[in-house]
Amino acid sequence: MTNGGLTGTISDSVARIRQEVCRLHEQLTRWELVTWTSGNVSARVPGADLMVIKPSGVSYDDLTPESMVVTTLDGDVVDGNHSPSSDTDAHAYVYRHMPQVNGVVHTHSPYATAWAARDEAIPCVLTAMADEFGGEIPVGPFALIGGDDIGKGIVATLEGHRSPAVLMRNHGVFTIGASAKAAVKAAVMCEDVARTVHIARAGGPLVPIEPQHIDALYERYQGVYGQR
Ligand SMILES: [Zn+2]
Repeated sequence: MTNGGLTGTISDSVARIRQEVCRLHEQLTRWELVTWTSGNVSARVPGADLMVIKPSGVSYDDLTPESMVVTTLDGDVVDGNHSPSSDTDAHAYVYRHMPQVNGVVHTHSPYATAWAARDEAIPCVLTAMADEFGGEIPVGPFALIGGDDIGKGIVATLEGHRSPAVLMRNHGVFTIGASAKAAVKAAVMCEDVARTVHIARAGGPLVPIEPQHIDALYERYQGVYGQR
């Protein structure tokens, strides 16, 4: 592995984050959130304006810590032998504008993306949704890949929202977290509830949870588990 111009503690952090980001991609395939090479995980490098992200177009089976790409928070490659994910601009925009976020995940997981294709938020009708998302999972605007449009849509939708997941219209899921692992968990949970609520609605009308009950569930769960 090269370390480019990275030195000292930053170099150690980058090596650790490369391993973490590589390993977390195994969860995308394990939970069937991705097809071919369509999803990606990134993490902020603590103490530096850098992030580590999946290389573009490399099969999940072939990912190694060394193949991960280190970029600035403007998406410029600092270290790595591959091109970064084509979603790098969106991840970088989120890190620049949401300092509390240390991990970002993108997938086209099928049930959640089906809601995005309908421009329909997933209503909060499960206690597991109240726990993890604190309400509905919102839809973000339509945005073309390249430049900051996707990142702007993610940040505009999630700022001031308890949900760590957004369904970008006609596209797919972006999740954020205080760690990359938390963002991966949100992506897994988003697909799980998207599927359950879809199945539920096929059988009859959905029953909403009272807002005060959503608040109580969210506060208990976040307090107990300390995710954010
Ligand atoms: Zn995508």
